Amino acid sequence: MRPLVAEINLDALLHNYQLACNFAPNSQNVPVIKADAYGHGAVKCAKALEHMAPAFAVSCIDEALNLRHSGIRAPILLLEGFYEVSELPLIDEHQFWTTVHSEWQVSALLSFAPKRTIKVWVKVDSGMHRLGFSPNLAEKVWSAFCNSSHIEQVCLMSHFATADAVCSSYFSYQMEIMKQLKKRLGAPVSLANSAAILNHRVSHGEWNRLGVMLYGSDPLESPNELANNLKPVMTLRSKVIAIRELKPGESIGYGVRWKAKKCVLIAVVAAGYGDGYDRHAKDGTPILINGQRAEVVGRVSMDMITVDVTNVHGVRIGSEAILWGRANNGVTLSIDEIARHCDTISYTLMTGVTERVPKLY
Ligand SMILES: *Cc1c(COP(=O)(O)O)cnc(C)c1O
Repeated sequence: MRPLVAEINLDALLHNYQLACNFAPNSQNVPVIKADAYGHGAVKCAKALEHMAPAFAVSCIDEALNLRHSGIRAPILLLEGFYEVSELPLIDEHQFWTTVHSEWQVSALLSFAPKRTIKVWVKVDSGMHRLGFSPNLAEKVWSAFCNSSHIEQVCLMSHFATADAVCSSYFSYQMEIMKQLKKRLGAPVSLANSAAILNHRVSHGEWNRLGVMLYGSDPLESPNELANNLKPVMTLRSKVIAIRELKPGESIGYGVRWKAKKCVLIAVVAAGYGDGYDRHAKDGTPILINGQRAEVVGRVSMDMITVDVTNVHGVRIGSEAILWGRANNGVTLSIDEIARHCDTISYTLMTGVTERVPKLY
């Protein structure tokens, strides 16, 4: 079989969740497991976390139903709410929590007759300008739900545009809007994602929504102590399938992008953009061969990458190749570092691992 696998370490997932809970001890911390738990497998991750988590968050009803049908009993929040009125009976039946961000959703909810109370998160647009009500409108919506016998508000929710920046006046601006609204309504809030949890204690609310840090990635611009203690959950592991020597001036791969300046040893690793390894990886992107750092050279192909292993000890066909995560000798290669070499963020790499890569838990 092809040697490429995504190993998912559920102990690391629990470790990261516990770390976040210790850091935000006065909040209910909701694991965000949308997009198949950022590519880690939502059902497996939810089952591992279910004894600790108060609820889960996914983007939509399809993802929520998948979890319910797999036996997850905890509350599940739909971050984008419902797209059509026809979803309401399912939301009622499965007791999903829904975000409410638009006026048509408010009318639909108020005129719906559910069997049980429906729990809602009222989304406020405090400056992201994507989803949510203006603060004034949010106040009206909140009151309308107060007067309804079948709707129960869990909290006001908002999302920050610049929570990851070291110092951001825009963050303070959004925070101030939410502080005032919280005070006026006496409402619980949910404001923080991973970056805000790590970077801004003031943003910790009654509820937090943590995604990427659960999976061991540090969303902040500058390194920080807590994030250093996160453990990578995914290890993308493959093997060297061929080795060759190149003479000075010889090139590798498509577009002859990289040329050898001296005699070099090149290892071919079975992993490419067809597996979700980013084609934008530049020459010099790190990789672990036999637990030692080496550099990807030449363009990423669909099924293969090429690595300069001139200075790596003991390379042979079958040697371990770690694209990100933890090698057998304990050395780790952070997905954030790979993302920087690909001009992207860890989120796109995690969610981009394709179906043909088997997951091992
Ligand atoms: C995805 C998402 C999160 C989680 O964000 P991370 O940066 O991964 O922690 C939180 N809130 C909302 C509304 C989201 O869509």
